[in-house]
Amino acid sequence: MQTSFSIAQLADPNIAEADKILRNCVHCGFCTATCPTYVTLGNELDSPRGRIYLIKEMLENDRPADAGIVKHIDRCLSCLSCMSTCPSGVHYMHLVDHARTHIEETYNRPIVDRSLRAMLAMILPYPGRFRLALKAAKFARPFRGLVKALPGMKPMAAMLELAPAIVHARNKFSTPGEFKPANTINGRVAVLTGCAQPALDPGINRALIELLLRKNIEVVLPEGEGCCGALVHHMGRENDALASAKNNIDAWMREVEKSGLDAIIITTSGCGTTIKDYGYMLRNDAEYAERAAKISALAKDATEYLATLDFGEPTTASNMVVAYHSACSMQHGQKITRQPKELLIKAGFVVKDVPEGHLCCGSAGTYNMMQSEIATTLRNRKVKNIEKTGADIIAAGNIGCITQIAGGTKIPIVHTVKLLNWAWGGEKPEELKLVS
Ligand code: SF4
Ligand code: SF4
Repeated sequence: MQTSFSIAQLADPNIAEADKILRNCVHCGFCTATCPTYVTLGNELDSPRGRIYLIKEMLENDRPADAGIVKHIDRCLSCLSCMSTCPSGVHYMHLVDHARTHIEETYNRPIVDRSLRAMLAMILPYPGRFRLALKAAKFARPFRGLVKALPGMKPMAAMLELAPAIVHARNKFSTPGEFKPANTINGRVAVLTGCAQPALDPGINRALIELLLRKNIEVVLPEGEGCCGALVHHMGRENDALASAKNNIDAWMREVEKSGLDAIIITTSGCGTTIKDYGYMLRNDAEYAERAAKISALAKDATEYLATLDFGEPTTASNMVVAYHSACSMQHGQKITRQPKELLIKAGFVVKDVPEGHLCCGSAGTYNMMQSEIATTLRNRKVKNIEKTGADIIAAGNIGCITQIAGGTKIPIVHTVKLLNWAWGGEKPEELKLVS
């Protein structure tokens, strides 16, 4: 694609990067067929190619964002399915991230939208506030029908709909500390505690830590670590996202310098995609660039790391049929497709692929709240495809997908590491207690 940025515009490293990405696009349109919003809405402007044109126009003309472009960029899930399909290697993720920042800086959203976004950015990344909000949502949930009828309040109704029945308190698997194996230490890793996940399902990191201790890997939950920044990053709040990234880099580098780390392990693939991108996000920061690249290189999804360990034969026999839902951030963002399924098979499960597995379930960070209608359409399509497999249970490696899909099916959905931990000596996951 030809571009026409001026020399002065190209002096901005973010515009220079956008220019490079745009020039790779040959407008072939292969990406449209695998884009969930194009498949759902059938509008070229809701396809990757359409959005690329809109972003090009906006940036080349150095124009503030308008309501038209905001509508189509907001509808993008950042699922990155288009990046898996694109034959020209167009880095859509970095382009749309830049567009979202430009929108945040130049567009004045309607007051209700602005307030809801500000509220999400103030609550979701902070575990204490998030727990309080979930508890409050439990009481407000019966009124979600009324809330939905108010102008601009559909996102609020969707938040109430998604609020879980149980909110988990902090425990030793979600507070800073160390876990030392009983025997010789075979390695040392940090595990990301995360912000939303411990309140929704603390059993995920517990299962991972138990698995690692069984292989004599020492685990640290570092002091000072916080939200990875993905939620605000996808809202275009770049300064907030970079502040979160720097905070985590400082926390993890203290551990690297103190006792060394073999890896930083993440059980939420959405966070993993962002942490692996810290090197890019801070590439122009003289103080952080080198350390950010080091942290990104250490970041591993749990299944990526577990696949390097030999667990031997499973100790709990289960021939259950598992539909493996590959989160977009796992398959498109991190290109991890093989390890989760191979681990589940080694653990004794019968693994089924989900038809149309490349399409997003509609979760996508705050998308299922801010774009609830498209998100529900995508969820229903995903559930229909999962149910076609005839599986007993669903496995996934991202808490957002787990919450989203659970809202549409009676088939239990469990994080992959909880199934692995069960197979290799851990407790049967809570979600399966009623399944024989
Ligand atoms: S597939 Fe790649 S090159 Fe083709 S239109 Fe989409 S982004 Fe551009
Ligand atoms: S990230 Fe997903 S929703 Fe956005 S343009 Fe690409 S395929 Fe479509």
